[in-house]
Amino acid sequence: MQGAVREHRNMLHRLGVETVDVLNPQDLDGISGLILPGGESTTVGKLLIRYGLLTPIAEAGRAGLPIFGTCTGLILLAKHINHSRQPSLGLMNACVERNAFGRQLASFEADMPIPALGGKPFHTIFIRAPYIEKVGEEVTVLLRHEGKILFARQGNLLAAAFHPELTDDTRIHEYFLTAQTSR
Ligand code: GLN
Repeated sequence: MQGAVREHRNMLHRLGVETVDVLNPQDLDGISGLILPGGESTTVGKLLIRYGLLTPIAEAGRAGLPIFGTCTGLILLAKHINHSRQPSLGLMNACVERNAFGRQLASFEADMPIPALGGKPFHTIFIRAPYIEKVGEEVTVLLRHEGKILFARQGNLLAAAFHPELTDDTRIHEYFLTAQTSR
């Protein structure tokens, strides 16, 4: 609907994965995973309702479809969005704080070690990013920094507060493809 769709698509193509753009419920037929890109979550939530996608995606996620949300996608996955009644898929047992980094830090980049990826730190890019404040016990925290949860997994669901698609590093997309789709 919005955001760095092309960058996610390019990343998947580099990894040899075929893609379709999901713009209506029929597009969900036959896919083996779904990426929810960044953007503006209240707008994307409204568009998902308008295009009849919110309920079918939520049902697919509950039925086990691997879904990876970046930034706005993380917000849409969460069961609880602090101070907001905006629409969400309500799948991940997490409380999310939107636009959670102060004004000067609204956009920033940093190298962060992510043990699940092994090897060198990951270059994380945050753009008016949310963070996860707390999670239920079924959620595995993959990156926490200064008390803020920035990358997490719950079964078939993966959520990042940052934008791996804006880097050249394919490790997080590979993690989604291997860890999530081969459960
Ligand atoms: N601030 C946006 C929101 O609340 C998220 C920003 C992003 O996706 N880069 O939806």
